[in-house]
Amino acid sequence: MRSFTSVDLAFSWQEASRHLPRGWITVLSLYVDPAQSSTLSARLIFPNDDVLLEELLDFAESKARGKAGSGGFLGMFGRKGDSSPLLRAVRRWNDYDFADLQDHPVVQLLSDRTIGLAPPLSQIYRVEFEATPDCPGCGQVHLHQQHALRVRGQADPEPGLRGDAWQPDVAIAVTENHEIVISERLRRLWAEMAVHESPPFAPVEMSDDTQPLWQVSPQGTVGVMAPPTPLQVLDRCPTCGRPLTVALSMPSPDALRPNLQTIYEEEALLTLDDAPLPAGDLWVTDLQEGRVRELTETLLGFADYPDPFYVRPSRPFWLISQRLLRLLHEHAPGGWRCRPVNALAIAACLVVLWAAAACGNVGTGVKSGANTLTVINGVDGPICTLHVKRASSQTFWGRNRLEQGQRLAMGEAFVVDGLAAGHYDVDAFLCDDDTHPGYGRYDVPVGPDVAGAWTIGQ
Ligand SMILES: [Zn+2]
Repeated sequence: MRSFTSVDLAFSWQEASRHLPRGWITVLSLYVDPAQSSTLSARLIFPNDDVLLEELLDFAESKARGKAGSGGFLGMFGRKGDSSPLLRAVRRWNDYDFADLQDHPVVQLLSDRTIGLAPPLSQIYRVEFEATPDCPGCGQVHLHQQHALRVRGQADPEPGLRGDAWQPDVAIAVTENHEIVISERLRRLWAEMAVHESPPFAPVEMSDDTQPLWQVSPQGTVGVMAPPTPLQVLDRCPTCGRPLTVALSMPSPDALRPNLQTIYEEEALLTLDDAPLPAGDLWVTDLQEGRVRELTETLLGFADYPDPFYVRPSRPFWLISQRLLRLLHEHAPGGWRCRPVNALAIAACLVVLWAAAACGNVGTGVKSGANTLTVINGVDGPICTLHVKRASSQTFWGRNRLEQGQRLAMGEAFVVDGLAAGHYDVDAFLCDDDTHPGYGRYDVPVGPDVAGAWTIGQ
């Protein structure tokens, strides 16, 4: 395993001489990753133990604190009082070797290659807009695949905006809409290996038709536990508070300093729930990252242009078995990486600890008070499912607070006590109507002198 840090500068590499000491430019240029740099930001990648990384971070931070010019060689650079940050983001992550992953029954698969789809995308997908049932402010865009994927070949005259052409030596890649495409050779090996648990392979068309390609679909869905998986909500619907954009990201301890304008992140790993895995070798998680919901005004814009030129920028997390990892390791050189997911045994322990910290109990009458959240059924029908979660960036609702078979009748109250002070999100679902979207309330305050309360239906 090797550890790296990527540093995103707040300017392009062409502009570097205006912000960095001249002597550094030559040396630092060896660290620039052009593929991940843009006209707005240059990305530099360092091994974690590189002294130049420490120097660059020290320099950038002293400048951000407005101390430029306060002494030393580097201090001569930058205008006095200029406190605009030099860094956008600093992220630490690991590159795992095959040996690091061999003890993991499941690993996360990441692709380094994005293959462009041949336009127009309306030949592949049908677009559907789904308003959030109880919120006028937001909804979801769904792309339904109804024809074979058609990917760009090398003969395509125009470069794709969101992906490259398929190269003949590639074994596995991901399309711009996050479908997995594999070569004929890999499909054959995969089918031989899996025998009875072979996934559905669907033919993929290529504009220059030089070789058969296949789309492989996941063989089941695996639940992600968040927490402890750090799925952060970056923005929410202003009307209902549901997440619009979600990211798998873990703030580093550096990020806790006040007045920080740079994002500091550590590598974030998925933690799966302890349900048995579905049969097969390739799965998808129940939670995604990226743009998971859209504001209604944006949806209306798409409704005017129903052609799916717009590909949903939310990504599933792909999980693969140790068996498939081995196959890729032996037969699919390059273009993909894997990361461990947190061990299931550890995850199970965390669930117990986490659940024990905020257990619900059945209220006999309303026992509200310090650090409690009282939920009263104010609708004409029994409630069988009740979720409570911190109104933080987490999207995970956790287990049902009501016992199996427990029905909260109209007018009955349920008290969740022992909560930490803060704000909580609550939702509730009827026992006898599966089609009803349920009820929810966001940001209910709870504290030593605030008895949180929510009447379902209000
Ligand atoms: Zn909404």
